[in-house]
Amino acid sequence: MPHSYPFLTPEQKKELSDIAQRIVAPGKGILAADESTGSVAKRFQSINAENTEENRRLYRQLLFTADDRMNPCIGGVILFHETMYQKTDNGKLFPEYLKGRNMVVGIKVDKGVVPLAGTNGETTTQGLDGLYERCAQYKKDGADFAKWRCVMKITPTTPSRLAIIENANVLARYASICQMHGIVPIVEPEILPDGDHDLKRCQYVTEKVLAALYKALSDHHVYLEGTLLKPNMVTPGHSCSHKFSNQEIAMATVTALRRTVPPAVPGVTFLSGGQSEEEASINLNAMNQCPLHRPWALTFSYGRALQASALKAWGGKKENGKACQEEFMKRALVCVKRDKYHSEKMFCLYSLSFYF
Ligand code: 13P
Repeated sequence: MPHSYPFLTPEQKKELSDIAQRIVAPGKGILAADESTGSVAKRFQSINAENTEENRRLYRQLLFTADDRMNPCIGGVILFHETMYQKTDNGKLFPEYLKGRNMVVGIKVDKGVVPLAGTNGETTTQGLDGLYERCAQYKKDGADFAKWRCVMKITPTTPSRLAIIENANVLARYASICQMHGIVPIVEPEILPDGDHDLKRCQYVTEKVLAALYKALSDHHVYLEGTLLKPNMVTPGHSCSHKFSNQEIAMATVTALRRTVPPAVPGVTFLSGGQSEEEASINLNAMNQCPLHRPWALTFSYGRALQASALKAWGGKKENGKACQEEFMKRALVCVKRDKYHSEKMFCLYSLSFYF
């Protein structure tokens, strides 16, 4: 049995835990604005905007400088490397500007997916080389949390055991490096929604992936109170012929999380993963109304589900700045809406829980 030699002082643990708690404070979630330059190219192409460094700066500036209604909804913003070193029109570095608005600054530190040899098209995520030094620099430059995304897919034969174990391990190694530098790691084991699988299959796979992830995080001595989880919601595959209700999706997701995610984890910040803006916010709201006990905050870390309408409204044109910010605010405000729960509905939902 290996012995654990403590690598974090009580002060370091407190710092990590405080950062994580600030990001997922009640009513708050994360704006994921960390699209790589290649991903921005695809988004900008859809609105006929040129993918230049200045256009990327202008668009992100619009999101970051939305009015004060944004303050109670956005606890953290994830940046791409380039954005970390860009400035507002007034010459303030974006991290400094966001901190001034009491938002925690995050940085995407993975370097994308690469093939896992001998598998049916599965991947792992690269970027561990030099990560120790990069994290030290990012912390100095104002980042207090980071993101690393792994990707798995559901087919009759995947995710394979190798993909589950390898991706869990690389996420755990990344998480421990971040924590040594006072950076809260968001661990993101995304299971893609492509395929015709049903809700139960997605739930089963999600449980196996998360169970392996938390075993690896424990093996790497990661301090869970100073982490956040960014998972997919449990949904049927995009080509599944059966439709499931938002309550069923919420119940399947919360059930999978309850079986695998320790209560020490302060928050679960979902990715939107190609759901429409409306779907992503309704599903999140349904989870927060779910009658099962939830020891973690359940909130959003959306990219597309916060930005799709905003991007369209902007259309790459300066005169549309205000419209773009309005659309963004609309989505952020809807995401944090938490309806009051009615006991009658609660009872119905509780009966539903035995089906998952
Ligand atoms: P989506 O919400 O668009 O899935 O993006 C979130 C994200 O950061 C994926 O890594």
